[in-house]
Amino acid sequence: MKGLRAHLCLWHAGLMALTLLLLAGFTYALLGGVLHSRADAALTELADTTARQIAIALYSQPRAASERRYPAFLSDDLRNWGRYIQLVDPQSHILEKSDGLDTHPLPVSARALRRGLEGRTTLETFPGLGEHPVRVATVPVQMGSRVPLMVQAGTSLEGVEAALQRTGWILVVLTPLVFLLALVGNYIVVGRTLGRVDLLTQTALEIQHSNLQRRIRHTGPQDEIGRLASAFDEMIARLDQSFQQVRRFSADASHELKTPLTAIRAEAELGLMADMSPEGYRQSLTSVLESAERMSEIVESLLLLARADAGQQLLRRETVDLAELTLETVDRLTGMAERHGVRVEMVESGEAMTEGDPLWIGQIASNLISNAVKYTPREGRVEVRVRPSDGWAELMVRDTGIGIAADDLPHIFDRFYRVDKGRARATGGTGLGLSITRWATEAHGGEIAVQSTPGEGSVFTVRFPSVGS
Ligand code: ADP
Repeated sequence: MKGLRAHLCLWHAGLMALTLLLLAGFTYALLGGVLHSRADAALTELADTTARQIAIALYSQPRAASERRYPAFLSDDLRNWGRYIQLVDPQSHILEKSDGLDTHPLPVSARALRRGLEGRTTLETFPGLGEHPVRVATVPVQMGSRVPLMVQAGTSLEGVEAALQRTGWILVVLTPLVFLLALVGNYIVVGRTLGRVDLLTQTALEIQHSNLQRRIRHTGPQDEIGRLASAFDEMIARLDQSFQQVRRFSADASHELKTPLTAIRAEAELGLMADMSPEGYRQSLTSVLESAERMSEIVESLLLLARADAGQQLLRRETVDLAELTLETVDRLTGMAERHGVRVEMVESGEAMTEGDPLWIGQIASNLISNAVKYTPREGRVEVRVRPSDGWAELMVRDTGIGIAADDLPHIFDRFYRVDKGRARATGGTGLGLSITRWATEAHGGEIAVQSTPGEGSVFTVRFPSVGS
């Protein structure tokens, strides 16, 4: 968990640092750009205005230039704004300059002169003039196509530099501070979130097969972790149920096998102890045989279910005429039904074709019909129907028997479940028949349903996917 926390925090820190650095750099660059362009605009405007004033004056007093009388343009109060102006001719002679430039005139570059003669404005930065770099705008004084003079306006970049420096400092202090705050916040939040996962792990580790009743019982919000906790609880509940089933199943299986085994032992002990007539021995051995047969029936059913559970029970796939197969089964069971005093009738035999293993489908029909006979009192009736129904081939077995109580209905397909244990055992039932029937039905892609009213009878309906004949 520590690993994940560090990993997440590291990723977050990396992304955060990158974002903050980009943001700080962008802010600084943007501010620099805005301040410089505003300074440039003001400087160019000053130089432009002065150049225009000089041009107008030169038109009206042509001699002013030769007499070098320009101070009128320079005595403007704009000078007080920290901007300086000087006039240069195309040969780079400085003709006039503001008072502040007495000892240090603005530098005149060849490029600015050349561009000035072409009528273009030039903006340059000169670093080495004073404490701060100086920005100079050189603007031509246009007299028609002639450029007799150029106006240079200069200003120190002190203000811009100072503003940028201040912003730089703020960013340098603020960025790591925000970074640290975000880092600590993230560390705490990630820690809390992972703490909930840790709790899950802890509980998972504590759960053994002996305490499968334990649950996380998450009370927090139903977010991703909440849902994980619920899914975990549901999984444990399913596991718990399976374990209970397995336990119950083992107990039931042992119990079922114990009964005939005890009977065999008792018969054997009796035979060894007492001197019995040959007839007595024959009877004793017959009863041993019956018990052994019952045991092998149970063991075979168990083996079959075990193979089915493991998915190892192979099924043939061939087209089966459900009506024909059911009729054969009904005929086969007529003798047994007569012994029980129950009438079995095939009352409907529609055309219902399905695909599957005829042995197993016959077994399903046989289980349902023999159950109906077993659980129907004398003089009762069992009706068997086969018909096509909405893409299904349907087999319905209705009896007028004892019925099944609503409480028992959901369990009758469970292994070894019998509504009335004594009675079922007496009828030779193992309690596995319906489990096997349900498995075989589902293995054929079908479904099984039951409806029952105690004292009136039950209806078992099995449906298989139908296929064209
Ligand atoms: P068994 O071998 O005991 O018949 P099954 O798995 O076939 O086991 O059936 C489970 C239980 O369901 C039976 O013990 C019986 O109580 C009940 N049952 C099954 N079929 C019927 C039916 N047609 N009428 C009433 N009860 C039935």
